[in-house]
Amino acid sequence: MSDAICWQHGRDLLLVREGGGRFCFPDRCVVCNAPANGRVRKTLYHLRHWWIPFLSLAMHIHVRRRVEVEFGLCRQHALARRIGWACIATAVVLPAALLPAMDGIAVVVACFVALALLFPIGVRLATVMRLVACDPMFARLRVGRKFLESLPTSSEEA
Ligand SMILES: [Zn+2]
Repeated sequence: MSDAICWQHGRDLLLVREGGGRFCFPDRCVVCNAPANGRVRKTLYHLRHWWIPFLSLAMHIHVRRRVEVEFGLCRQHALARRIGWACIATAVVLPAALLPAMDGIAVVVACFVALALLFPIGVRLATVMRLVACDPMFARLRVGRKFLESLPTSSEEA
């Protein structure tokens, strides 16, 4: 476990990956930069095509495009993240649960609402830090603008 060496690089956070292990970000919310009210440990995978996560995940685990992080979230964004996960779970479970009780158009509507609306909303709320690019030296992460703007800037190319 090591303190993350990172800076603002355009729209992304640039993290020095050298040394490996888990990278700990400052104790502030990675979305809004407010003081953190809890911390999240997570392994980020480089998922370019998040809508086919299982295929992509298998592919990227294979090429080891992953970064272990620990970061802070404020109360509000921790709650938003939990709501996001609840939306994702509901989007997956609801159509299956309702299927036996419905027929015809109702099934189609329920599946559409769950998959086309609830799932993307859930993914959006639950994703507070995203790995957008990764090589052996650096990782580029997408975080909240306010957190990003609190970091030192660099003109260095990655
Ligand atoms: Zn926040």
